[in-house]
Amino acid sequence: MKIKNLPADDNSCGWSSILPSHEPQRLEGSAEAEWVIVGAGFTGLAAARQLAHHRPDDRILLVDAQCVADGASGKNSGFLIDLPHDLSAPDYIGDLDTARKDMALNRAAIDSLRSIVKTEEIECHWRESGKIQGAVGAKGVNVLNAYRTGLDRLGAEYQMMDTAELKRKLGTDYYTQGLYTPGTVLVQPAALARGLARTLPENVQLCEMTPVTQVDYGSPIQLHTPAGTIKARNLLLTNNAFAQEFGFFTGRLLPVFTYAGLTRQLTEAEQQRLGGTPYWGVIPADPFGSTVRRTPDQRILVRNSFSFNPNGRSSEATTAWASKHIVQGFNARFPMLDGVEMEYTWGGALCMSRNHAPYFGELRPNVYGAGCHNGIGVTKGTISGKLLADYLANQDSELVRYMLSQPAPASNPPRPFLDAGINATLWYNQLRAGAER
Ligand SMILES: Cc1cc2nc3c(=O)[nH]c(=O)nc-3n(C[C@H](O)[C@H](O)[C@H](O)COP(=O)(O)OP(=O)(O)OC[C@H]3O[C@@H](n4cnc5c(N)ncnc54)[C@H](O)[C@@H]3O)c2cc1C
Repeated sequence: MKIKNLPADDNSCGWSSILPSHEPQRLEGSAEAEWVIVGAGFTGLAAARQLAHHRPDDRILLVDAQCVADGASGKNSGFLIDLPHDLSAPDYIGDLDTARKDMALNRAAIDSLRSIVKTEEIECHWRESGKIQGAVGAKGVNVLNAYRTGLDRLGAEYQMMDTAELKRKLGTDYYTQGLYTPGTVLVQPAALARGLARTLPENVQLCEMTPVTQVDYGSPIQLHTPAGTIKARNLLLTNNAFAQEFGFFTGRLLPVFTYAGLTRQLTEAEQQRLGGTPYWGVIPADPFGSTVRRTPDQRILVRNSFSFNPNGRSSEATTAWASKHIVQGFNARFPMLDGVEMEYTWGGALCMSRNHAPYFGELRPNVYGAGCHNGIGVTKGTISGKLLADYLANQDSELVRYMLSQPAPASNPPRPFLDAGINATLWYNQLRAGAER
């Protein structure tokens, strides 16, 4: 089977641009291994580490078409979110049993990453700062009020904040109301992904800039790359929406892009003008609003705007359109930072499904997969990669059983109806988000 669409992320991501330059680890020629994992994002990195732990004598190849952190795992807003947020439920929590299991997954991911970051001394601006969900207008306030009733049912800790408190924390009086929850961790995602890759166990070989262009599902499985052929007994797909290219979940995954911008570092004078505390993270009450962060190295991140890109690639024109909205979101919130420009703007792919379900487990004999994390893949990717390796090593647990019990991603309507429907929905909701964006 030929792989028709390969990832082609833009190379303008601020998070990786501000790190020291990186020399890719390539695979020269052909190779044989017990296990090959395609996709070195958070899901693949976690699967490789845990598989190596269970199978210390097996050779494991972790292959990516790009460098680690060039894909969505290095381009995201860096929120490791602990709490569930079910968009289909009126109080955003829905069924309590499911919400508790979701929370257990997220918290297990955070615990696992915390332990690796600490043991391996990965410098990634790890901050246990919690997050604020910010509302600008009445619609956003209604969302927060509904969510707090859900959090009450769940027994989760939170604190409401008014404009004055928010201004003391964030420096801006743009928000009407905030809902603070303490369990979220903020990171520099590209630094975390690179740190995880650098500290993989010895029996994992990372193969960057190694696109898989063809797969033959024989025994062994053969993967073709421009440099040669990889033969492996087992294949793990941790390549997000690109699993469709390998023949799985065709017409069920939705590669939706979202966009972010990172300013240059604020000067001392600009930090004084802004006021507030040195670092924080705000996610929007309206899912089509802006995520905003102040980073520990004193930059402001703004993420907003969505586009549907079925081939997994975004265009320069769409990134330019999103950049305009990112700058608008920044200017509206930070008029005191007039003259501070976005040094970097980029887009990256979320993998969504209509029923918000992931894929996990055996896809066909000797082929396994974990992916489609519906916009929260830093935690969900990490834990599902880790649990997939546990499943392969016959390590039973409540979390493995929960992952296996989830429904598969639901079918999409046929194209071109799908494209028209999604584009219209995105356009309408972005317009409706108004000042929340
Ligand atoms: C701007 C933005 C902000 C976001 N903010 C957050 C956030 O704050 N918190 C959060 O939890 N999530 C966030 N997300 C989502 C999160 O980044 C993703 O859910 C997560 O990165 C998914 O991880 P993954 O490892 O499953 O997939 P990916 O990171 O997409 O990794 C898949 C890898 O597979 C590789 N690949 C694909 N096909 C092939 C092939 N044929 N050969 C070889 N390699 C291949 C790709 O190059 C890629 O590196 C955000 C995403 C974006 C874009």
